[in-house]
Amino acid sequence: MAKNLIPGEPVLIAPGVRRLVAPNPGMMTGPGTNTYLIGEQNIAVIDPGPAIDKHLEKIKEVTPGKICWVLVTHTHPDHSPGAMPLAQSTGAELMGISAPSGKVQDKTFIPHHKLNDGDSLETEEFLIHAVHTPGHASNHLCFLHETLNWLFTGDHIMNGSTVVIDPPDGNMKHYLESLKRLKTFNLSVLAPGHGDTMDNPKKVIDWLINHRLNRESKVVKALKKYPNLTLHDLTPFVYADVGSHLHQLASRSLLAHLIKLETDGKAVAKNERWCLSS
Ligand SMILES: [Zn+2]
Repeated sequence: MAKNLIPGEPVLIAPGVRRLVAPNPGMMTGPGTNTYLIGEQNIAVIDPGPAIDKHLEKIKEVTPGKICWVLVTHTHPDHSPGAMPLAQSTGAELMGISAPSGKVQDKTFIPHHKLNDGDSLETEEFLIHAVHTPGHASNHLCFLHETLNWLFTGDHIMNGSTVVIDPPDGNMKHYLESLKRLKTFNLSVLAPGHGDTMDNPKKVIDWLINHRLNRESKVVKALKKYPNLTLHDLTPFVYADVGSHLHQLASRSLLAHLIKLETDGKAVAKNERWCLSS
C-alpha cells in the first residue's frame, strides 16, 4: 500500500485539495475509498464513502473550513452512504444523481441539488464542473476542477484495480464512450476514487480503452471458435489469463462485452447461448 494512502491520515495533494482514505480496504476498494476535500474556506467534499462514524468524524476534524457541499460520484455502497449523515451534521448541500433501481445501490442518497452534465459549482477558490460518465454506473459523475485541470474520477477510472462493468446498470458501450469523451478535456491529473493520483491522463485513458477493446476482440475470437455457449461456459475461454477464482466476477464483464457486441449488431443470444451475428 502506498504510504500516503493510509486510512484516517489526511494528505494535502494539491493547493486546496485534501485526500482522506476511508477505512474500508478490500479487493474491490483497494486501500479504501478516497474522500476529497476541496477548498480552504467553503469546502466541497467529494465521496464521503461508507457511513462509518470514525471516517465521518475525521472528515469534520481535518476540514480546513466549513463543509458546504457534499458531492457524490455515484451511489455504490463504498461511495455515497456517508453523504446523508455528513450533510445532516454539517448543514451541507447534497449534490449528485439519486440511485437508479438495483440491489447494489445506496437509496439513502437523495440529492438536494440534482446535477446534470455541465453543471458547475463556483466559489472564490475553485470552479468544479460535473461530467456525466455513465458506464461503471448509469448515474456516475466525474468532477472537473477547472482551476487545477484535475479530474476526480470516482470509479470511472481507478488506480490499481480494474473497473467492474456489471450489467444492467453497468454498460460497456457507455463506459467506452465516456472514456473517449474525457479525452476531449484538458486534464493534468486524474484523482480516482481508489488508489493514488495519476499523471498523464491521456495515456491512462488510451490504455484503458485499448485494454477493453483487446478484451472485446478476445470475445469475438472465442465466439467464432466456440459458438452457442452460455455466458458461464464462455468465460474461461475469454479470461484464460485470469485466475478461475475471479471467473464469477469476470463473467459480469463478459456479459457487458456481449451486450455491447449485441448493440453493435455483432453478436446475438439465442436461448442464452451466444454467437456471432451471421
Ligand atoms: Zn468504489
